[in-house]
Amino acid sequence: MDQHWVTDVVLPRSRADLAGIVDTDGVLAGGTSLMSEPNPGMTRLVDLTTLRWPDLVVSEGGLEIAATCAIDTLIHADLPRTWIATTLFEAAARALLASYKIWYTATVGGNVCLALPAGAMTAMCAALDARLLVWRADGTDALLTTSEVVIGNAVNSLAVGDVLRSIHLPIAALTQRVSLRKASYAHLGRSGAVVVARSDGDSVVVTVTAATVVPEVVTVASVDPDEVARAVLDHIPTDHFHTDAHGTAAWRIGVVEYLVAQASRDVIA
Ligand SMILES: Cc1cc2nc3c(=O)[nH]c(=O)nc-3n(C[C@H](O)[C@H](O)[C@H](O)COP(=O)(O)OP(=O)(O)OC[C@H]3O[C@@H](n4cnc5c(N)ncnc54)[C@H](O)[C@@H]3O)c2cc1C
Repeated sequence: MDQHWVTDVVLPRSRADLAGIVDTDGVLAGGTSLMSEPNPGMTRLVDLTTLRWPDLVVSEGGLEIAATCAIDTLIHADLPRTWIATTLFEAAARALLASYKIWYTATVGGNVCLALPAGAMTAMCAALDARLLVWRADGTDALLTTSEVVIGNAVNSLAVGDVLRSIHLPIAALTQRVSLRKASYAHLGRSGAVVVARSDGDSVVVTVTAATVVPEVVTVASVDPDEVARAVLDHIPTDHFHTDAHGTAAWRIGVVEYLVAQASRDVIA
């Protein structure tokens, strides 16, 4: 929608052009959220897409995803076949209640920065042990986990002027088996609970999103699905589960136990 308060657009070409971002600026990536509602007080846009960061860089250490990489580009990337966990990209995108038209425009970084509990890319990043590179406004860099960036319901830890530059997925996680299971009130409704299990054969790393306000990542040294499910619920305090239009906390606790057991069985079998 039109943002009538905007009188200027910054088209940065380098990091130096990002200096001087203030709280009345809108940092624009895909714009599917930023431009979807009125933002009175937003007088300037800083369009990250003109930085032309390479979408995906494959290295010996893993995959670097530019924050501005569209979700659709990530899903359809031609990546090493041994990176079996990349099936999670599309599975997570499908957990995003949005059509493929949104996928074309919405970016991986925008999804994480929006910090919604049902953030599809938030789930993927947390589950694959991502490190998020943040360009601080003061010129320094910070390498953070997903849980250090997504800290509340639609609340991220970035200060004014901080920009998420990229997301690094390590090869150790990319080469492990993964399974995503989700539940929602309606068949095509927004996810009420998303669970991702990942295993190296000896233990299971479980990530819970949507059911909880922020991503919960629990490593369980067991490959018994029911034991893993019980351990995950023991680990997450019940007040971390939330109630909103997409599910009550009690319902979410129940389905998470069921989904963790299912997803664990998928990666252990
Ligand atoms: C129909 C529909 C359904 C949706 N369903 C979901 C859903 O189920 N789950 C979900 O999570 N979202 C959902 N969304 C919201 C949104 O579309 C997505 O989260 C999307 O991935 C946001 O990415 P974007 O690139 O469009 O971000 P933008 O709209 O460009 O930005 C979103 C926010 O992040 C900030 N930002 C973006 N990139 C950076 C960066 N690199 N550094 C610092 N700040 C940055 C922006 O300033 C803004 O505050 C939905 C939207 C629509 C229209």
